[in-house]
Amino acid sequence: MNFKKMSLRGKIVSAIIIAVIVAILVNIGVVVYKNTVKATTTSVSAEENIVSEDKNEFWNVDIANSVDENQNKVDDKVENKTIEENTSKNENTESQSKTSDNKESEISKKDSNSSSSKTSDSKSTNNKEKTAATEGKKGTIYLTFDDGPSTNITPKILDILKEQNVKATFFILNYNSEGEKIIKRAYQEGHSIGIHGYSHKYSEIYQTENTYMNNLNSLQEKIEKSIGFKSRITRFPGGSSNTISKKYNVGIMSKLVKKVEANGYKYYDWNIDSNDAGSAKTSAKVYSNVTKNLSKKRPNVVLMHDFSNGKKSLNALRDIIKYAKSNGYVFEKITYEGDLVAHHNVNN
Ligand SMILES: [Zn+2]
Repeated sequence: MNFKKMSLRGKIVSAIIIAVIVAILVNIGVVVYKNTVKATTTSVSAEENIVSEDKNEFWNVDIANSVDENQNKVDDKVENKTIEENTSKNENTESQSKTSDNKESEISKKDSNSSSSKTSDSKSTNNKEKTAATEGKKGTIYLTFDDGPSTNITPKILDILKEQNVKATFFILNYNSEGEKIIKRAYQEGHSIGIHGYSHKYSEIYQTENTYMNNLNSLQEKIEKSIGFKSRITRFPGGSSNTISKKYNVGIMSKLVKKVEANGYKYYDWNIDSNDAGSAKTSAKVYSNVTKNLSKKRPNVVLMHDFSNGKKSLNALRDIIKYAKSNGYVFEKITYEGDLVAHHNVNN
């Protein structure tokens, strides 16, 4: 075809045809590109909205490094996207469920504000380079239950643990006389009683280093009176990686992680979140959040809740234990003397 010899009309028609072909090719390119991106981020977007803590990124990396090769890494990434933000939701949920406790009853308003500020925090401080420490026996599972004891859920969890002969760890809040009976039972049945704090109210506990230490020490004393054992294991409300404390005291977490250890405690975060008070809407989802993320290549510290809204974990617990046992995992409780280290990245 000789372009020069073509009529003007022929040139225009040719130009249009070429333009159409180019447009189609560009379009195909965009679609292919979009699909590729989609495949590598599989449904993350839906959950990303709820994600807030930087450490999720770390645990993703951690898990991606440690999953069996035949496991789909993308799936792991997706499953682990929601880690700590749920805790912020939990705090609201739990506070609503704790209306009998005056000290906790003010939480929901302030902390729901805080969780929105948290979301923006994480966007500005996202850092995949950060690392956290995980040490301990590989293939071991540490079941941890936060924010109890509750009269409707904790005893039923204890029943299942007894039936399955599994020891677990309870990071508890202040309790009344009913709660005292429950923690006595848990202790007598061989579980670890850890300290979450007398109060869970971020705006109070993270005011100063002293308010935090008082919140920790006062519950330690109370527990010692109840069960005759001085607990020295603790979990920060919101985890050591929380950014919500920034709202009340910039830099406090960096100081507290050292201070609690200097004061004779060890603190424990987690590397598997059941999301039982967050995105997991059913016990089946709690089950898959836990079982899909278990790894033989590291210790597994599982975050669940035994507050009064803790039905999803309660209903998933027996099946989680059975799955783990039949896949060769062993269960241990956390003790001060044990070799477990499970620290998130500190973000404040
Ligand atoms: Zn908590």
